[in-house]
Amino acid sequence: MKKLECDQTINYFTPDLVSVMTVDLNEQFKVETHDCYGGQVQDEHTSRWDIDRSIINLATGPIYINGLKAGDVVKLDIDNIELGSSGIMMTAKGLGVLGDTIQNESTKILSVEDGFVKFSERLCLPVKPMIGVIGLATKEDKIHTASPGCHGGNMDTTDITTGNSLYLPVFQDGGLLAMGDLHATMGDGELDGTGVEIDGEVTLTASKVEGLSILNPIVESPDAFFFIASAKTLDEAIKIASQNTVDHLTLVLKEDYEMAYRLLSACCDIRISQVVNPLVTVRVRVPKTLLPNLI
Ligand code: CA
Ligand code: ZN
Repeated sequence: MKKLECDQTINYFTPDLVSVMTVDLNEQFKVETHDCYGGQVQDEHTSRWDIDRSIINLATGPIYINGLKAGDVVKLDIDNIELGSSGIMMTAKGLGVLGDTIQNESTKILSVEDGFVKFSERLCLPVKPMIGVIGLATKEDKIHTASPGCHGGNMDTTDITTGNSLYLPVFQDGGLLAMGDLHATMGDGELDGTGVEIDGEVTLTASKVEGLSILNPIVESPDAFFFIASAKTLDEAIKIASQNTVDHLTLVLKEDYEMAYRLLSACCDIRISQVVNPLVTVRVRVPKTLLPNLI
């Protein structure tokens, strides 16, 4: 299996990324990723403001996927996420929704083993691996890997996890995929500004989806689809995710627009992905009982 090491990284998603590895459609491959601090935090004496923040959220890539053309939709099956042996959480003034209440900056290195994050002597949390940053070359913008967008990027969405699939609109030939910022666990919202930040290896398979056109990322789990949208405010993101969902339901269920709007309200859930990145991210969960297939 081809594997891309984490010495090949980008800090921006742009239209003109230059690939460092090529894979074929339906070929399984592996990507090694740094933690979001690029390996700079080796002990609990390092504070968030000590590190070089210009290399935060490095994404391993770009990977050219043979057979993808601009205008296509790619489906990325997340076959496996293997986590490193320790995670990092940094608390700092100004970081996260209660950042103004934080007096003491502190860094915790948390051991991750046997499926648990050891939070303290008393507290162990079950591991819930996820990919924070995953995206493709953009249409025309230069977007830092700390920000999300329609290209993917720092969506910090807990459903981007093992066994699920991510659909992304392809803006440049080959897609030019990059990813990083794994979390050993994170709650919806990422409220203090970080997950349990960790390095690791992701195993994926890319395929092309015929007959589908999307404006924003979609995640598929065994029992639902999640329509993701990012914007400056929660209100705006909720509106975009809802609009994308209603348009999709109208098209696929062949129902009129008002019926699709009622279905959105009757059985879909709005969920917050993250509220701490330059744009915030939400998703609408559409159960497969309503929408069994995307097409
Ligand atoms: Ca992140
Ligand atoms: Zn992260």
